[in-house]
Amino acid sequence: MELFRKSAGYRFLDAFVLANVVELGTGHFCERFLELRNDPGGRTYAQMTHAARSGYRNFAEGSERLMTSYSTALELLDVARASLCELRDDYNKWLMDKYIKSVGEEFVEKGGFRERMSTVRGEARTQQDGVAEGEGPKCPQCGAPTRLRKTRKDNKPFWGCTGYPACRGVVDFEKNRQQSTAADSNR
Ligand SMILES: [Zn+2]
Repeated sequence: MELFRKSAGYRFLDAFVLANVVELGTGHFCERFLELRNDPGGRTYAQMTHAARSGYRNFAEGSERLMTSYSTALELLDVARASLCELRDDYNKWLMDKYIKSVGEEFVEKGGFRERMSTVRGEARTQQDGVAEGEGPKCPQCGAPTRLRKTRKDNKPFWGCTGYPACRGVVDFEKNRQQSTAADSNR
């Protein structure tokens, strides 16, 4: 009689209680999150509910066998463990798919990291210089648009012809700013 009591002891083990919770939870999870859209053949559904059931069933059976055969008991407990590991991997895969999908949407919306960095940098540069690119004066030599550049020597801004190096026309940055400010106030 004592042996029977021993074998029934597994019902009070945390691991067995947890295996039950996992089985019930997995049932709810599959009902709620697996549908035709993400599990067309119902294979993941079957796989996960089966693994969850196998986890707790083999735990119980293995524990029962402790009375008669240790080797059978260990085999069944090992199956229980393997089933729960398989289930864990299925959950991981589901989380990864979900994460990759959300990251993908964000990427399309906002661009990659480098892209976002260069946007922020471009805005900061425009603010620092007080003039947006493309708003510069025309080249005094050929009339082409100019682009804001900096001298290599002392990092001072100047307007350089976009036709460079064919055209070497430049406009002094400070002088141009004073002129355009004066033109604005005369309007
Ligand atoms: Zn030019």
